[in-house]
Amino acid sequence: MKTYNYSDLTKQDIAQLVQRNVDPANEIRAIVEEVISNVQQHGDRALYDYANRFDMVVLDKLYLDKEELEEIAATVLPEQKVVLDIAYQNIYKFHQSQLKTEDKVETTPGVTCWRELRPIEKVGLYIPGGSAVLPSTFLMLGIPAKIAGCHEIIVCSPPQKNGKVNAFVAHVALMLGIDRIFLAGGSQAIAAMAYGTESITKVDKIFGPGNQFVTKAKTIIQSTTTTAIDMPAGPSEVLVIADETANPRFIAADLLAQAEHGIDSQAVLVCTSNEIAAAAEEEVEKQLAVLPRAEIARHAIDNSYIVVTRSLGEAMNFSNQYAPEHLILATEKWQEITGSIINAGSVFLGNLTPESAGDYASGTNHTLPTSSYAKAYSGVSVDSFVKKITFQHITADGLQNIGPAVQTLAELEGLHAHANAVGVRYNPS
Ligand code: NAD
Repeated sequence: MKTYNYSDLTKQDIAQLVQRNVDPANEIRAIVEEVISNVQQHGDRALYDYANRFDMVVLDKLYLDKEELEEIAATVLPEQKVVLDIAYQNIYKFHQSQLKTEDKVETTPGVTCWRELRPIEKVGLYIPGGSAVLPSTFLMLGIPAKIAGCHEIIVCSPPQKNGKVNAFVAHVALMLGIDRIFLAGGSQAIAAMAYGTESITKVDKIFGPGNQFVTKAKTIIQSTTTTAIDMPAGPSEVLVIADETANPRFIAADLLAQAEHGIDSQAVLVCTSNEIAAAAEEEVEKQLAVLPRAEIARHAIDNSYIVVTRSLGEAMNFSNQYAPEHLILATEKWQEITGSIINAGSVFLGNLTPESAGDYASGTNHTLPTSSYAKAYSGVSVDSFVKKITFQHITADGLQNIGPAVQTLAELEGLHAHANAVGVRYNPS
């Protein structure tokens, strides 16, 4: 892995190092725009064609219904159901705690304001299924959607070579009470949920991670349709901050856990110790040699790097500029530096907290902003599936108290009808 000394890096060097998944020649955009336009024009027909072209499968139907899902899920073993259930329970517990009723606030005597939650009615969940099938993502999206109370949940996932979904994805659908999965992947699935087709309902908001095609499609449709998105959640990344108290074996394992996601994933080590950094790099090679997905991980590691800093403070400065999807603090001194985290999707504290725990079963959500979007976006939560509507009620006393200020402000802006809407209420008769 390429190693840099933080103190040698200029502002421009850092800006360049923290850039990822840019599409400078707009190659991905061009492909995705064509896919979106085809789906918009040809609906289901385009989905059949793209399944053939990108997923190499000829479909005779665009979805799997409950009976088919039950049949596919029948191969899931009892012990596999047990671990899926552990994940389900923990994710449910953590997300359920996010549903909170807010207090009513009397801002002025007689003037009461508050917010109430309402679920987004129609949501679309994208479950990736290209290089790896991710039933865990289905849990991460389906559970908060159910807790929020969304009325219609559309699910799209790329068809596998046999024209179906994998058994674990089918099982999770049944766990969630979802009885239809559409066999559509990539940007065509996003376009279908944004515009609607003969089979797929247009949704109000699309959720879920995916590769660069999926992410580009989400960012395009959010500005060209009335469908919103959770966030740009593209190729996965991790940044590990380590010091002399870290274990190089653990660091290497965490870097590789990210690298095996895809060739465009990135795993960055920011370390205050040259010795630990060198040992971690050696460990990466050792552990990589025996990984089943070594070829993919190798590509991602080649696209990753190490930064050596003089202090944990410097390391955190770099991390805040990188704004990682996952941030691991591989140090016994994690409590001293958590307060200085400004930008990160999800944080893993101390040497015994692997990111994999959050990927699967500890309870937090693994659908997180990538490519530095953690500077402005949060990961998926129950909040992502609801709207917070503001309410207010004003009594006769409240109108006397707040009215004059509202009228003066309205006149100040030259909006006399606004002032009048208060004035007419002083004497209702
Ligand atoms: P995917 O489902 O995102 O994409 C597969 C689809 O991409 C295919 O069905 C196909 O339609 C489309 N596609 C493939 N090649 C194409 C081409 N040349 N042109 C147009 N479309 C094409 O699955 P994936 O590829 O395995 O990617 C999953 C991604 O999700 C990984 O990058 C992983 O790192 C990321 N991920 C991110 C998070 C997060 O929270 N940010 C979480 C989990 C996974």
